[in-house]
Amino acid sequence: MAEEPKETKPGFQNPVAGFAVTFKAMFKKRLTEQYPEQQKTTAPRFHGRHQLNRHPDGLEKCVGCELCAWACPADAIYVEGADNTDEERYSPGERYGRVYQINYARCILCGLCIEACPTRALTMTNEFELADSSRANLIYTKEQLLAGLEEGMVDSPHAIYPGTDEQDYYRGLVTEAAPGTEQQPAVSKGEAPQEGAASSGPAEPASGEVIGR
Ligand code: SF4
Ligand code: SF4
Repeated sequence: MAEEPKETKPGFQNPVAGFAVTFKAMFKKRLTEQYPEQQKTTAPRFHGRHQLNRHPDGLEKCVGCELCAWACPADAIYVEGADNTDEERYSPGERYGRVYQINYARCILCGLCIEACPTRALTMTNEFELADSSRANLIYTKEQLLAGLEEGMVDSPHAIYPGTDEQDYYRGLVTEAAPGTEQQPAVSKGEAPQEGAASSGPAEPASGEVIGR
């Protein structure tokens, strides 16, 4: 046997019940935030703009492996790796990220890229003011993403700490640049991509140029 329908309130009470919600809200504390005049502190693990980190001596942690680009569901990252040489060394190991771009018109700040990075080269900062009216300006280049220099660092490219190897950097044995470390002349920075490196797209950029994706 079907259940009998429950007794409902008479029709005239319904609008009154609706206004009760309005009246209750009128006396609640206002939650208006005076942004941008008053900036709210974000949560410590907020996903904001990315940063490419350095080792304590200033060499770059990125090895140009492209794992971050492969992990990105929005196809927002473009990486082009290159070989280090003794005359021009950007990272302690064999390879470094010569071109690195993140397109913030695509990025959804999900953080999958930083999870994929094997060297902790890529992390996210708490900076969230990324809006811009130009699509080109939303493509951040390596120069914009690379972390600044802290005390004890010398800007890359420069030689590896004498007597150490790549593994020592990851073991935390290098804590600052060796005394007398000097920045090497960057002869290849900004060079056009080598022939054959253009397999992932028709318009591969030179370092510092942005690709319109
Ligand atoms: S945060 Fe997400 S969408 Fe943005 S670059 Fe990383 S993986 Fe791609
Ligand atoms: S940021 Fe990390 S995952 Fe991306 S290319 Fe560099 S080392 Fe590889």
